[in-house]
Amino acid sequence: MARRKLIAGNWKMNGSVAALAELDGIAAAAAHAPGVDVAIAVPATLIAPAAQRVPALAIGAEDVHMAASGAHTGCISAEMVAAAGATFTIVGHSERRADQQESDADVKGKAAAARRAGIGAILCVGETLAERDAGDAESVVTGQIAGSLPDGAAADWLSIAYEPVWAIGTGRTPTVADVAAIHGAIRAKLAVLIGDEAVRMRLLYGGSVTPDNARELLGADDVDGALVGGASLTAAKFVPIIEAGAA
Ligand code: PEP
Repeated sequence: MARRKLIAGNWKMNGSVAALAELDGIAAAAAHAPGVDVAIAVPATLIAPAAQRVPALAIGAEDVHMAASGAHTGCISAEMVAAAGATFTIVGHSERRADQQESDADVKGKAAAARRAGIGAILCVGETLAERDAGDAESVVTGQIAGSLPDGAAADWLSIAYEPVWAIGTGRTPTVADVAAIHGAIRAKLAVLIGDEAVRMRLLYGGSVTPDNARELLGADDVDGALVGGASLTAAKFVPIIEAGAA
Protein backbone atom coordinates (compact mmCIF):
# COMPACT_ATOMS: atom_id res chain seq x y z
CA MET A 1 0.00 0.00 0.00
CA ALA A 2 1.31 3.49 -0.87
CA ARG A 3 1.69 5.59 2.24
CA ARG A 4 2.33 9.32 2.14
CA LYS A 5 5.80 10.15 3.42
CA LEU A 6 6.19 12.12 6.66
CA ILE A 7 9.38 14.11 7.22
CA ALA A 8 9.44 15.29 10.83
CA GLY A 9 12.02 17.40 12.66
CA ASN A 10 12.89 17.38 16.35
CA TRP A 11 14.65 20.47 17.64
CA LYS A 12 15.21 18.94 21.10
CA MET A 13 16.44 21.58 23.62
CA ASN A 14 17.63 23.92 20.86
CA GLY A 15 16.29 27.01 19.21
CA SER A 16 15.11 30.49 20.00
CA VAL A 17 12.59 32.95 18.64
CA ALA A 18 15.32 34.20 16.27
CA ALA A 19 15.93 30.63 15.05
CA LEU A 20 12.29 30.38 13.95
CA ALA A 21 13.38 32.21 10.79
CA GLU A 22 14.63 28.77 9.65
CA LEU A 23 11.00 27.68 9.49
CA ASP A 24 10.29 30.10 6.65
CA GLY A 25 12.48 28.17 4.23
CA ILE A 26 11.22 24.84 5.56
CA ALA A 27 7.59 25.93 5.06
CA ALA A 28 8.37 27.11 1.54
CA ALA A 29 9.94 23.75 0.68
CA ALA A 30 6.98 21.92 2.20
CA ALA A 31 4.63 23.94 -0.01
CA HIS A 32 6.58 22.74 -3.04
CA ALA A 33 6.46 19.10 -1.93
CA PRO A 34 2.72 18.43 -1.95
CA GLY A 35 3.21 14.66 -1.81
CA VAL A 36 5.00 14.81 1.54
CA ASP A 37 3.83 15.78 5.03
CA VAL A 38 6.32 17.99 6.89
CA ALA A 39 6.27 18.54 10.64
CA ILE A 40 8.58 20.09 13.22
CA ALA A 41 8.60 19.48 16.97
CA VAL A 42 10.01 22.40 18.92
CA PRO A 43 10.62 23.23 22.59
CA ALA A 44 7.36 24.08 24.38
CA THR A 45 8.23 27.77 24.62
CA LEU A 46 8.46 28.01 20.84
CA ILE A 47 5.22 26.22 19.92
CA ALA A 48 3.00 29.32 19.89
CA PRO A 49 5.41 31.64 18.07
CA ALA A 50 6.27 28.89 15.56
CA ALA A 51 2.60 28.11 14.88
CA GLN A 52 1.88 31.80 14.40
CA ARG A 53 4.86 32.33 12.13
CA VAL A 54 4.26 29.35 9.79
CA PRO A 55 0.58 28.39 10.06
CA ALA A 56 0.85 26.03 7.07
CA LEU A 57 3.50 23.89 8.79
CA ALA A 58 2.59 21.22 11.35
CA ILE A 59 4.21 22.34 14.61
CA GLY A 60 4.47 19.86 17.43
CA ALA A 61 5.61 19.30 21.00
CA GLU A 62 8.50 17.06 22.01
CA ASP A 63 6.70 15.52 24.99
CA VAL A 64 3.48 15.82 26.98
CA HIS A 65 2.29 14.67 30.40
CA MET A 66 -0.32 11.91 30.45
CA ALA A 67 -2.75 13.90 32.61
CA ALA A 68 -4.82 16.78 31.29
CA SER A 69 -4.09 18.95 34.34
CA GLY A 70 -3.14 18.65 37.99
CA ALA A 71 -0.34 18.82 40.54
CA HIS A 72 2.59 18.11 38.22
CA THR A 73 4.90 21.08 38.60
CA GLY A 74 6.89 21.83 35.48
CA CYS A 75 4.92 19.49 33.23
CA ILE A 76 2.76 20.38 30.24
CA SER A 77 -0.34 18.53 29.07
CA ALA A 78 -1.38 17.57 25.56
CA GLU A 79 -4.35 19.91 25.90
CA MET A 80 -1.96 22.76 26.73
CA VAL A 81 0.31 22.20 23.74
CA ALA A 82 -2.75 21.87 21.52
CA ALA A 83 -4.02 25.22 22.79
CA ALA A 84 -0.61 26.72 21.98
CA GLY A 85 -0.91 25.54 18.37
CA ALA A 86 0.70 22.09 18.37
CA THR A 87 -0.96 19.57 16.07
CA PHE A 88 1.13 16.61 17.24
CA THR A 89 3.65 15.52 19.85
CA ILE A 90 6.59 13.16 20.00
CA VAL A 91 6.28 10.55 22.76
CA GLY A 92 8.81 8.05 24.06
CA HIS A 93 11.93 9.61 22.55
CA SER A 94 14.91 7.58 23.74
CA GLU A 95 16.43 10.66 25.39
CA ARG A 96 13.34 10.87 27.61
CA ARG A 97 13.20 7.11 28.13
CA ALA A 98 16.83 7.36 29.37
CA ASP A 99 16.98 10.78 31.07
CA GLN A 100 13.51 10.73 32.67
CA GLN A 101 13.29 6.95 33.07
CA GLU A 102 10.08 6.85 31.03
CA SER A 103 8.64 3.34 30.87
CA ASP A 104 6.58 1.81 28.08
CA ALA A 105 3.51 2.35 30.29
CA ASP A 106 4.38 6.06 30.61
CA VAL A 107 4.78 6.35 26.85
CA LYS A 108 1.46 4.59 26.30
CA GLY A 109 -0.20 7.08 28.66
CA LYS A 110 1.36 10.01 26.83
CA ALA A 111 0.23 8.72 23.44
CA ALA A 112 -3.27 8.23 24.84
CA ALA A 113 -3.13 11.82 26.11
CA ALA A 114 -2.36 13.07 22.62
CA ARG A 115 -5.40 11.23 21.28
CA ARG A 116 -7.56 12.60 24.11
CA ALA A 117 -6.44 16.14 23.23
CA GLY A 118 -7.11 15.62 19.54
CA ILE A 119 -3.52 15.88 18.33
CA GLY A 120 -1.28 13.40 16.55
CA ALA A 121 1.64 11.49 18.02
CA ILE A 122 4.96 10.10 16.84
CA LEU A 123 5.83 7.18 19.13
CA CYS A 124 9.55 6.38 19.29
CA VAL A 125 11.15 3.01 19.84
CA GLY A 126 14.70 1.79 19.42
CA GLU A 127 17.39 -0.48 20.82
CA THR A 128 20.70 0.41 22.49
CA LEU A 129 24.02 -0.67 21.03
CA ALA A 130 24.40 -3.37 23.68
CA GLU A 131 20.98 -4.75 22.78
CA ARG A 132 21.84 -4.76 19.07
CA ASP A 133 25.21 -6.42 19.71
CA ALA A 134 23.43 -9.08 21.74
CA GLY A 135 21.17 -9.82 18.78
CA ASP A 136 18.12 -8.48 20.61
CA ALA A 137 17.24 -5.44 18.46
CA GLU A 138 14.07 -6.93 17.01
CA SER A 139 12.73 -8.31 20.26
CA VAL A 140 13.49 -5.08 22.15
CA VAL A 141 11.74 -2.93 19.55
CA THR A 142 8.69 -5.14 19.15
CA GLY A 143 8.49 -5.36 22.96
CA GLN A 144 8.45 -1.57 23.15
CA ILE A 145 5.67 -1.51 20.56
CA ALA A 146 3.62 -4.03 22.54
CA GLY A 147 4.14 -2.09 25.77
CA SER A 148 3.63 1.45 24.54
CA LEU A 149 1.04 1.27 21.76
CA PRO A 150 -2.06 3.11 23.00
CA ASP A 151 -5.65 1.94 22.72
CA GLY A 152 -7.23 3.19 19.52
CA ALA A 153 -3.91 3.27 17.69
CA ALA A 154 -4.71 4.32 14.14
CA ALA A 155 -2.78 5.75 11.23
CA ASP A 156 -4.78 8.98 11.06
CA TRP A 157 -3.21 10.22 14.31
CA LEU A 158 -0.27 7.96 15.17
CA SER A 159 3.06 7.18 13.52
CA ILE A 160 5.92 5.03 14.81
CA ALA A 161 9.55 6.18 14.67
CA TYR A 162 12.25 3.52 14.79
CA GLU A 163 15.30 5.25 16.21
CA PRO A 164 18.24 3.05 17.21
CA VAL A 165 19.68 4.78 20.27
CA TRP A 166 23.23 4.31 19.02
CA ALA A 167 22.41 6.14 15.77
CA ILE A 168 20.96 9.29 17.34
CA GLY A 169 23.32 12.24 17.04
CA THR A 170 26.31 9.98 16.38
CA GLY A 171 26.66 10.07 12.60
CA ARG A 172 26.27 6.28 12.57
CA THR A 173 23.35 4.64 10.79
CA PRO A 174 22.20 1.07 10.37
CA THR A 175 22.37 -0.46 6.91
CA VAL A 176 19.32 -0.08 4.73
CA ALA A 177 18.80 -3.85 5.09
CA ASP A 178 18.85 -3.56 8.89
CA VAL A 179 16.34 -0.69 8.82
CA ALA A 180 14.06 -2.63 6.49
CA ALA A 181 14.28 -5.72 8.71
CA ILE A 182 13.28 -3.83 11.85
CA HIS A 183 10.52 -1.91 10.08
CA GLY A 184 9.18 -5.20 8.74
CA ALA A 185 9.20 -6.64 12.25
CA ILE A 186 7.40 -3.55 13.60
CA ARG A 187 4.72 -3.80 10.94
CA ALA A 188 4.26 -7.51 11.63
CA LYS A 189 3.88 -6.78 15.34
CA LEU A 190 1.39 -4.00 14.58
CA ALA A 191 -0.62 -6.43 12.45
CA VAL A 192 -0.95 -8.69 15.46
CA LEU A 193 -1.99 -5.79 17.69
CA ILE A 194 -4.21 -3.67 15.42
CA GLY A 195 -4.96 -5.86 12.40
CA ASP A 196 -5.43 -4.20 9.03
CA GLU A 197 -4.67 -0.75 10.41
CA ALA A 198 -1.01 -1.80 10.49
CA VAL A 199 -0.81 -1.48 6.72
CA ARG A 200 -1.81 2.18 6.89
CA MET A 201 0.47 3.24 9.77
CA ARG A 202 3.56 5.22 8.86
CA LEU A 203 6.89 3.94 10.13
CA LEU A 204 9.61 6.58 10.25
CA TYR A 205 13.33 5.97 10.53
CA GLY A 206 15.35 8.27 12.82
CA GLY A 207 19.03 8.49 13.70
CA SER A 208 21.64 10.65 11.95
CA VAL A 209 19.52 11.28 8.85
CA THR A 210 21.30 13.88 6.69
CA PRO A 211 20.94 15.30 3.20
CA ASP A 212 23.59 12.77 2.13
CA ASN A 213 21.89 9.59 3.34
CA ALA A 214 18.20 10.57 3.31
CA ARG A 215 17.37 9.27 -0.14
CA GLU A 216 18.88 5.85 0.55
CA LEU A 217 17.24 5.46 3.97
CA LEU A 218 13.87 6.73 2.76
CA GLY A 219 14.03 4.21 -0.07
CA ALA A 220 14.23 1.22 2.28
CA ASP A 221 11.30 -1.18 2.37
CA ASP A 222 8.61 -0.16 4.87
CA VAL A 223 10.18 3.26 5.55
CA ASP A 224 7.48 5.91 5.31
CA GLY A 225 9.45 8.94 6.42
CA ALA A 226 12.10 10.22 8.77
CA LEU A 227 12.41 11.75 12.22
CA VAL A 228 15.34 14.13 12.03
CA GLY A 229 17.18 15.78 14.92
CA GLY A 230 20.31 17.80 14.19
CA ALA A 231 19.65 18.23 10.49
CA SER A 232 16.21 19.73 11.16
CA LEU A 233 17.66 22.81 12.85
CA THR A 234 18.41 24.63 9.61
CA ALA A 235 16.52 24.95 6.35
CA ALA A 236 19.80 24.34 4.50
CA LYS A 237 19.97 20.78 5.86
CA PHE A 238 16.30 19.96 6.33
CA VAL A 239 15.01 21.07 2.92
CA PRO A 240 17.09 18.48 0.98
CA ILE A 241 15.67 15.80 3.27
CA ILE A 242 12.13 16.98 2.46
CA GLU A 243 13.07 16.85 -1.21
CA ALA A 244 14.44 13.32 -0.78
CA GLY A 245 11.07 12.34 0.71
CA ALA A 246 9.30 13.79 -2.29
CA ALA A 247 11.53 12.02 -4.82
C1 PEP B 1 16.24 12.51 17.05
O1 PEP B 1 16.46 13.36 17.87
O2 PEP B 1 15.14 11.95 17.05
C2 PEP B 1 17.28 12.19 16.08
C3 PEP B 1 17.06 11.24 15.22
O3 PEP B 1 18.42 12.93 16.13
P1 PEP B 1 19.59 12.99 15.01
O4 PEP B 1 18.91 13.10 13.68
O5 PEP B 1 20.38 14.21 15.35
O6 PEP B 1 20.36 11.73 15.11
